[in-house]
Amino acid sequence: MPIDATLPYDPDNIFARILRDEIPSKRVYEDDFAIAFHDINPQAPQHILVIPRGAYVSWDDFSARGSDAEIAGFVRAVGAVARQAGMVEPGYRLLANVGVDGGQEVPHLHVHVFAGRRLGAMLP
Ligand code: C5P
Repeated sequence: MPIDATLPYDPDNIFARILRDEIPSKRVYEDDFAIAFHDINPQAPQHILVIPRGAYVSWDDFSARGSDAEIAGFVRAVGAVARQAGMVEPGYRLLANVGVDGGQEVPHLHVHVFAGRRLGAMLP
């Protein structure tokens, strides 16, 4: 079920627990601002999720409340994840679902990184 992205941050959401290593994940990247791990239900040959270390519900929350350092660090982390995974050539796609109509299921900001095949016109 998609979530209401205007609700307060739930510190026990599944990605918060992955950040605290309470739930296992296949982590592929980490730095001071973000971690990245393989999506448990991949929609493309490569499907990685990048999440900020900070407690932000959604892209909306992060872009409104995140510090400049966190936002810059997160954007750089997303780029680094794609480079590290060898996605830059022939390319990749970024996606962040926000709220109910956006189809957001987990209430901790995550950017999907898709690659490994020629992606469709809109959604992978
Ligand atoms: O953008 P949205 O919130 O819909 O995406 C949530 C994503 O988190 C899904 O692609 C789902 O497969 C993934 N997920 C995961 N590990 C979990 C729970 C969800 O990779 N334990």
